[in-house]
Amino acid sequence: MNFPVTLHKRWHGRRYNSYNRLLKDTFAARVYKIGLRLDFTCPNRDGTVAVGGCIYCNNSSHTPQNYQPRTSVTEQLERGAAAIQRRHRADKFIAYFQSYTNTYGSVSKLEKLYREALDFRGVVGLSVATRPDCLPEDTLDLLTDLSHHTYLWLELGLESMQDRTLRWVNRGHGLKEFVETVGRCKKRGLRVCTHLILGFPGESSAEILATTSLLNRLEIDGLKLHNLHVIKNTVLEKLYAAGGFTLSSQKEYVALVVDFLERLAPEIVVHRLTGETYRAITVAPEWSINKIGVHNAIYKELEERDSWQGRFYPNETEVPSPNTPVAREED
Ligand code: SF4
Repeated sequence: MNFPVTLHKRWHGRRYNSYNRLLKDTFAARVYKIGLRLDFTCPNRDGTVAVGGCIYCNNSSHTPQNYQPRTSVTEQLERGAAAIQRRHRADKFIAYFQSYTNTYGSVSKLEKLYREALDFRGVVGLSVATRPDCLPEDTLDLLTDLSHHTYLWLELGLESMQDRTLRWVNRGHGLKEFVETVGRCKKRGLRVCTHLILGFPGESSAEILATTSLLNRLEIDGLKLHNLHVIKNTVLEKLYAAGGFTLSSQKEYVALVVDFLERLAPEIVVHRLTGETYRAITVAPEWSINKIGVHNAIYKELEERDSWQGRFYPNETEVPSPNTPVAREED
């Protein structure tokens, strides 16, 4: 076996730098995230940047259906914590400001919400999901201050490093804004986790894998990978129904994720390997509903290749791109 002993030990046998393992090591306990859906909107929906939002966006896909919008942080945490305690007997939590753009509001509103979460029993940290164009300096001041007292991750959506894809999905920002914002966050010592979607139509595997060089160079702290999936009541659903593009098969996605991990710096913490969605709102692909099945297939592929995260790092650009087929636009 070529898997380096040092990494095997550090990652407790996992072949990638997993967020769950990091949480266990950091808190000496199992820690679970509780997704929150609060009274936020998004500048890409309300007309500030654009209207309609990203073509794949339906925020019901983010939070379990038993969470009721318009309930307080405390009520949502109570419900989430009770469910986790019943299922896993865990009592440490990360409050995850998940749906919509969770820095899109006045600093006083944000501070009140974040501090309410931190006051909840068992909450040991915060994750705040947002867009690169929604982090003015006063918001960063607040997040920096909080990060000195709690375990804080800032989650920044990039989704694709190809500006043509960002335009196609009506993302409302480009790669430049993302790079600039990451620089400002890193200067303040904030932990930044990037969201990426793999499998956009028209992106070659070489283009997708080139994203690893960008993330390595930016010294991103964390990464969430997601397959492109189609959710009901989105623009993407209409395009898909019209036959505008095809989606990756599970086999293709798994191969691409492992190719991606092999080129990713081992220091980058992997928060997620595939998307999480619910049957009731998913149009396609069917395979992505079985998250555990996709995870198992990724672990198996890593084993079969006897490979690991960072295997080709830091020479990731010199590795010939494997011919991983991905979804493509139809003629
Ligand atoms: S930035 Fe996020 S919340 Fe806003 S439209 Fe896009 S996916 Fe939806």
